[in-house]
Amino acid sequence: MATKTKVKTYRNGEPINLEYHECDGCEVLYINGHKTHEAGCPFEWKDYKVECKNCDKLFYPEFDRQELCSNHCYADYWDLPCDCEFCIELELELQNEDC
Ligand SMILES: [Zn+2]
Ligand SMILES: [Zn+2]
Ligand SMILES: [Zn+2]
Repeated sequence: MATKTKVKTYRNGEPINLEYHECDGCEVLYINGHKTHEAGCPFEWKDYKVECKNCDKLFYPEFDRQELCSNHCYADYWDLPCDCEFCIELELELQNEDC
């Protein structure tokens, strides 16, 4: 079979599996050019940006109810040790200042 499959993704980058649909969970409508999911759609969140509770940046969540944009923000927000590049560099700078 040589049927063309439209490759489509949600705005957060996750693939939409149903062919010829724009959502696996509902019939998407376009209202004033804006992609709008039906009320109660379980995949709606994949298309909407969320404001990070830690850095206020708008981002597309990777899972439902994600409130923090990255591992760094997660660690920062919950006061956990963070091992991202930024924090490791900051740590090294602080150590250098001490001596
Ligand atoms: Zn939907
Ligand atoms: Zn953040
Ligand atoms: Zn970090």
